[in-house]
This record gives sequence, C-alpha cells and structure tokens, in this order.
Amino acid sequence: MPGGVARARGFRLALLLIVFFLLFVCLIIGSLNYPLPSALASMGPIMPLHSREQSRLLVVAPHPDDETLGAGAFIQQHVAAGGQVKVVIVTNGDGFRIAGGRTMEKVRLSSKDFISLGLIRRQEAIEALRNLGVQSQDVIFLGFPDRGLANLWTVSWSKSYRSPYTKQNTVPYERSRDIGVPYTGQELVNQLKQIITEYNPETVVAPSLADLHPDHHATALFVRTALQDSPVKTLLEYTIHREEWRIVMANKLTSHMDQWLEGADADPSPAVVDPTRLAIEAKRRAILAYQSQVKVMPRFMMSHVSRPEVFLKVDLTQPGCCAKIKRKAATGVHREQPVRRLSGSYGDLP
Ligand SMILES: [Zn+2]
Repeated sequence: MPGGVARARGFRLALLLIVFFLLFVCLIIGSLNYPLPSALASMGPIMPLHSREQSRLLVVAPHPDDETLGAGAFIQQHVAAGGQVKVVIVTNGDGFRIAGGRTMEKVRLSSKDFISLGLIRRQEAIEALRNLGVQSQDVIFLGFPDRGLANLWTVSWSKSYRSPYTKQNTVPYERSRDIGVPYTGQELVNQLKQIITEYNPETVVAPSLADLHPDHHATALFVRTALQDSPVKTLLEYTIHREEWRIVMANKLTSHMDQWLEGADADPSPAVVDPTRLAIEAKRRAILAYQSQVKVMPRFMMSHVSRPEVFLKVDLTQPGCCAKIKRKAATGVHREQPVRRLSGSYGDLP
C-alpha cells in the first residue's frame, strides 16, 4: 500500500538520521576527550625555548613555507636577539599542481610550468624570510624534487629519480646550491652534511619523524642521517601535517605532543616558543608572502600565524640518541626503511 510504503521509508530515513546524529555526537565527544598521553605526563611540563640559548641556527624545510609555518616566530626572535640563522629549503615546491594551476591560471601544467612554479615559490621564500630578518644569502635552495623525497629514501638512494612534474632527474635551478646534482638520496645526505660542516650550527630545526607528509617524514630521516657524527648538540623537530594537529592546535597542545613522541627514538623533551607581538606580525607578513599557497588554502596557512611553536627537543649528545637511524646507516638497510603511511591522503597539500 502506498501509505504503508511511505511510512516505512519515513521510518528508515528517521533511523538513518538518528544513526548519523549519534555518530556525530560520538565524534565530538571523542575530540573533546582527547586523552592526555601517559608518556608526556611523565615528561613533566613543556619547557620554554629561549632563542638566546644557541647562536647559530640551521632551519631545514622540505618546501618553501614550512620554515615559516613551523618556526617563523622562533626565527624572528632568534635574529632579533642577535643570533644567526641559515635556512635550507630542500625542494622548490615544484610539484603542487593546484597551486601552480591557480597561480598561472592554467588547467594543465607542462614540465616548464612546474619549473616556473618552483621559481615563483623560491622568490616567495626569499621575501617571506626577509620579513623574519633573514637575508637572501642565508637562504639555501637545494632544488630537490617536490613529492619525491620519500622515493629518494626508499628507492632512489643511488639511482636518480625523475620528477613526474618537472621531468628532471637532476637539480634544474640555476640559483640552487649545486645545479645538475642527481636526484638521489645519497646526494641529498651529502649536501646536508656539507652545509652542516661549513656552517657548524649549534642547533638544527627540522621536520618531525611523526609528520605524515611523505616529504616531511623523509626530510626528518635525511636530516637525522646527515647529523650522525656531527658536532651539532640539539635537534628541534616541528610537525605540520597530522590530522590530530588540526583538531587540537588551538587548545590541546599537549595532545599533539603525544603524536610526536610516537615517532621519536631518542629521549626528547617538548619545548615551546611563545611568540612576541612583533614575531606574530612578522610571521603574518611572511606567510602572506607565500601568495601561491595562501590563494589555495588560506585557512590552513593563516592558522599558523599566532600559535605557539612547539618543538620536540632532541639532545644529540645523549649516548643513546638516534640509535634507530645510526643502526640503519651502519647496516646499510636505510633504503628498506618504510616511510610511514604513504597513503597520499596529503597529496594536495604543500
Ligand atoms: Zn611542506
């Protein structure tokens, strides 16, 4: 009967709505009651990080903008306090199709367009870092392949990788540290090692092993490998890409720390930079310099402006520090190290 069918449909619809509503409530409750990690609780309070602690800082970013998003306030305050800063940007971000399409107002991008995007993002980085007090001669571009760093670690350690975006298998950018260098993991480690030896920083700031973006996670592995047997005392790790981070960023800072600890193999301690008003303003201008990124994801970019910058502080002088990476290098199995969660779910992020 039509009336009976309509009633049955209505009942099913109501039931579905109730189930969805209950699921939604569960999600909200789950995010509100994000558990305080026992590992973090045992570590004690988060320590403030003073920029005068070390005078030479080396900041490593997988893409142009990560140095600003992850450590912009720290960089500004460090320079303002009289410290030195050098920034290494591993890729020119030349594989971000959406940002390239929007910037160049094209639907399809050629390999030349991707290289043009890399040049645009390079210029944005110079402008951003000028706002933070870093001069262009202190910004080093390596020109390695965007979205290819995990491949360099896992597959292309000694045989060069070809970028599907720029179609290059060597560094194509003239003003990179070393044009024509092959895209291999070994070469990236060599470049990082040389920079560390030449600059002799006391502290290195780099992405965290817990970052889910493949380029970020791989950069963490490369930096830790390059730091072996170096005189650097402290490694400060920052995280940009984790779902939990977006949920907890505003007021659940300590929960975020737990996600970092998961990827740590040393005895880390959390450290936080509480930005000054001047640092916040400088960081805002720096982020706005990244117009190719702000255009396509304004909320994500601007959400980093005034937040405290939290780092996982690793004491590299500890005897047991970074044993996992050392062991891999010693046994030559670094190429088999799986880069975690290469699901591609962050494929459209910078
Ligand atoms: Zn990035």
